[in-house]
Amino acid sequence: MFQTCDLSPVITVMMMMRIKDEKFWAKVTKTDKCWLWIGCKTHNGYGQMRRNNKGILVHRYSYMMTKGDIPEGLVIDHLCRVRNCVNPDHLEAVTNAENLRRGIPGNKTHCPKGHEYNENNTAFYSGYKYCKTCNREKSRRIRASIPTTPGIGR
Ligand SMILES: [Zn+2]
Ligand SMILES: [Zn+2]
Repeated sequence: MFQTCDLSPVITVMMMMRIKDEKFWAKVTKTDKCWLWIGCKTHNGYGQMRRNNKGILVHRYSYMMTKGDIPEGLVIDHLCRVRNCVNPDHLEAVTNAENLRRGIPGNKTHCPKGHEYNENNTAFYSGYKYCKTCNREKSRRIRASIPTTPGIGR
């Protein structure tokens, strides 16, 4: 029955369910509102634990434990905006666009160059927003800075 196939999300969840939950809850401090993860965190403040040599984001783990699998293509949004909170009541699976629309306090609506962080212009990488326009311009500048002398030496 059990196949060691990391690619199947179903198997991955099953593997996660086998983890002793006490280990997880031992690192959670419950306050009146948020259940705070006091274990390791990623560089951008999300709770993280290591299982099977893989880093697992604990709010995703908490969601999967209590509410089930995360639908494909959805991200887990913190309604409380506390990144290391694992309270399932504060977690909601939303699309990237919805997550973006809600915005994150302290996060900017425009990049430093003034381009709007809208759905088409925003790339996500490990929890950070990136301006696609700026990224494009940067790679154009890098290409332009490579000395090319057309017609000579070719
Ligand atoms: Zn919370
Ligand atoms: Zn920009």
